[in-house]
This record gives sequence, C-alpha cells and structure tokens, in this order.
Amino acid sequence: MITTKGYAAQSPETELAPWSFERRDVGEHDVQFDIMYCGVCHSDLHQIKNDWFPGIFPMVPGHEIVGKVAAVGAHVKKYKVGDLVGVGCLVDSCRTCENCQEGLEQYCLNGNSQTYNGLEQDKKTPTYGGYSNTIVVHEDFVLSISDKLHLAAVAPLLCAGITTYSPLKYWKVGKGHKLAVAGLGGLGHMAVKFGVAFGAEVTVLSTSPEKEQDAKKLGAHKFVVTKDEQQFKAAMGSFDFILDTVSAKHNINDYLGLLKTNGVMICVGAPSEPSPISAFAIIGGRKSLAGSGIGGLPETQEMLDYCAEHNIVSDIEMIDIKDISSAYERMLKGDVKYRFVIDMATL
Ligand code: NAP
Ligand code: ZN
Ligand code: ZN
Repeated sequence: MITTKGYAAQSPETELAPWSFERRDVGEHDVQFDIMYCGVCHSDLHQIKNDWFPGIFPMVPGHEIVGKVAAVGAHVKKYKVGDLVGVGCLVDSCRTCENCQEGLEQYCLNGNSQTYNGLEQDKKTPTYGGYSNTIVVHEDFVLSISDKLHLAAVAPLLCAGITTYSPLKYWKVGKGHKLAVAGLGGLGHMAVKFGVAFGAEVTVLSTSPEKEQDAKKLGAHKFVVTKDEQQFKAAMGSFDFILDTVSAKHNINDYLGLLKTNGVMICVGAPSEPSPISAFAIIGGRKSLAGSGIGGLPETQEMLDYCAEHNIVSDIEMIDIKDISSAYERMLKGDVKYRFVIDMATL
C-alpha cells in the first residue's frame, strides 16, 4: 500500500484537516502520479456538507487533479514516468454497459466510481480525491495534458471545463445562437469561454453586478443583473439556450421565461433543494428543460486537446491547502475569481 497525505473531513460537521491514508499499490494497468494542483469545485463543498446525500467519511475531496507521472504498471501503454496527466470526476466504471461502450462513463448503468465519496468497482473500497499528494488510477481513466498551458489553470478543466463543454457540444451551440450562462462562478466562467469560442452570442445572467467587467473580459457580449427586475424583464424571450450553473435554489420558472420559442435550458448546477417547475413555463413556446453531467473520458480528452489548441484555461486564484476552509466560505458568497486551485506543494 502507498501511504498518502491528504486533507479530509472526518464528518459533515468538521472542517477539513490533515489526514493520512492508504492507496493501493500500482497495478499492471495503473498510473501513479504526484499531484501538483487540484481545483476546488462547489461539488466538493456540497459533498463534505452532505448537501446531496449521506457521504462516505472520512472524505478527501478533489476531482480537478493534475500532476506528473511517478510510476506506471507493467502493462501501461499510454503513459510514462514524467508525463503530465490529469484525473477528473471518474476513476473507473463497469466498461461493459451501453453507455460505457459509447464513452459515456459518467452515465454508467452499473454505477461508475467517482474520484472521491465513491466506491471502486469492487463496490467496497472507498475512493479518495485530489486534496492529497499522490493518486493511483487505471490508465483508461487518466487524461493526457499538454505542456503548452499553465498547468495549475488546466486543473479546473477536469470538472468545470468538461461539465460546460459537453452540453454545449451536445446541443451544438454555436454561430447564430444566443446563449445565456446563469451564474458566473467556476463552471459559469468556463461556459462563457467555450460559448464565445464556439461562436455564440453570450450573455451572463448574474446576481452580482460587480462581475460585469469580468464577464466582458471573459468574452461575454452582454450582462444581465437578475436581481434587477427591469433588466430581467427586458431579457424575456431572448435566448436559444440557457446553461444554468447556479449552485443554490433559484426560481427556474423565471429563467425559462428568458428562452425563445423552442429554447432549451440545460441544468448543470446542482442545488441541494429541489425547485418546483410549472408545466406552463415550458408549454408556452415548446421549451425544453434538460440536464447534463460532467463528460465521458473520450470527450474529456477532446476538450483538453481543444483547450490546448485554442489556448483556453481557467482563471484561477491559487491557495495554500491550509486556507481551504476560508476558500469555501468565499465560494459560498460567490466570491471566486473564478476558480480556487490548491497548490499541493503546500500540503
Ligand atoms: P461556484 O463557483 O460557487 O459558482 C456558482 C455561481 O452561482 C456563483 O458564483 C453565483 O454566480 C451563482 N449563485 C450562487 N448562489 C445563487 C443564488 N442563490 N441565486 C442565483 N445565483 C446564485 O460553483 P461551481 O463550482 O461553478 O458549481 C456550480 C454548481 O454546479 C454546483 O451546484 C456544483 O455542484 C454543480 N456541478 C455540477 C456538475 C455536473 O456534472 N452537472 C459538475 C460540477 C459542478 P453570480 O454571482 O454570477 O450570480
Ligand atoms: Zn466538480
Ligand atoms: Zn458502465
């Protein structure tokens, strides 16, 4: 076993603190890499607080992981020691179901293995995430990372990046479309970058008027302060798509009113509290309400390669791991520009 240093929450009531645990030895098809940076996703906070469902504790969060390969198993073909690699939200899946066969491991019909707060495919061994110094993952779930980009700023692509890239690709959002991005946080700022790169006219729907300048710098064409009734009313019926990245309860019916006829609202934000939907909000104008979860392995690699080619990374604020609790407090207030990334050398 490999003794690993990390930060864990021992229960939903406790703050993250240093914790040592064991990872498996490097198997024939495994890659072990030293973690250099790990992004801080709002899902980390939801999960350590048991917002969604009772979690597996102690919990080591982190699913935006990048680093350098330290060891490979005898049969590993894709990677060698020294390569830059990453791991996102998944470390394994059944590989045999219809969805896995199509590269949609995020929707594995037999239950995939999430990077943390999950179980390995033996359905017994808990998984521990990237707020740690090293990780061992089957090569099929390890992604290749270009050395052309700022490595720390690549980390958030592994969740915030793919979660926004995947639905924009699936719904073919691009030239001639008006896209609104609800919530300008970690996911939202990546959605703006991809929306702009794909050629859409992008509007940010935000509760934070002070983010307008940033939104424009990120490439957004328009900015609507959702708390301003007049601005909200003026935007009614204007968008082909809304990508909703909001992390807390909000009135989805109101946002549906912003869609054009045949418009689609895609939820990726995952508030813990459900929101009631009125059928009338989608009947009038033949509107669709949809959802999307992260992305499969082939598409995640496609997204990373696209970002390397188009020089797209996340806007980050680097933190020491000891400051993780205050980073969470700031994230809850929407005060992140636009993703915290932990410098794992501070562990
Ligand atoms: P984040 O950085 O905290 O951003 C969320 C943004 O939502 C905030 O910056 C804020 O933007 C807006 N917001 C917060 N509270 C709001 C409220 N009450 N009403 C309206 N807007 C509000 O979080 P994130 O890391 O981007 O994650 C966003 C959500 O996506 C989380 O729920 C997370 O768990 C989920 N997620 C889902 C997937 C998936 O696969 N579907 C993957 C990753 C994350 P403004 O200041 O601009 O209003
Ligand atoms: Zn995430
Ligand atoms: Zn499967």
